[in-house]
Amino acid sequence: MTKKVDDCLFCKIVAKEIPSNIVLEGDDFVAIRDINPQAPTHMLILPKNHYDNLAKAEDAEELGRLFMVAKQLAELDKLKGFRVVVNNGRESGQTVDHLHIHILGGRFLKWPPG
Ligand code: 5GP
Ligand code: ZN
Repeated sequence: MTKKVDDCLFCKIVAKEIPSNIVLEGDDFVAIRDINPQAPTHMLILPKNHYDNLAKAEDAEELGRLFMVAKQLAELDKLKGFRVVVNNGRESGQTVDHLHIHILGGRFLKWPPG
């Protein structure tokens, strides 16, 4: 059964209680376009199971599958280069406490990030 948290924005998006621009869906994830894109391509992979963030994640295989989806999404938008980001905790910039992977691309990305 999917781990769900009431009052979690991304749990509601996963459950389709809130509409989103879904790019791809699998048994244990939903990939959407970010509502406030920071690059021409900015997608988010949301595991259907709720974990507050990476520090609370439990299943190595589940995490591995999410990374394979990141690769698939980059192929979908034909990105030459792309960045995969997971913010963890307020200090890192995490604003939604449901684990998610950002995929950014379509422009030159500076390093280090701010
Ligand atoms: P964080 O800052 O937690 O790493 O990333 C949260 C991301 O979710 C942000 O990039 C933000 O723009 C995006 N976001 C917040 N609310 C919504 C929403 O309702 N729909 C979509 N598609 N993205 C959202
Ligand atoms: Zn959630």
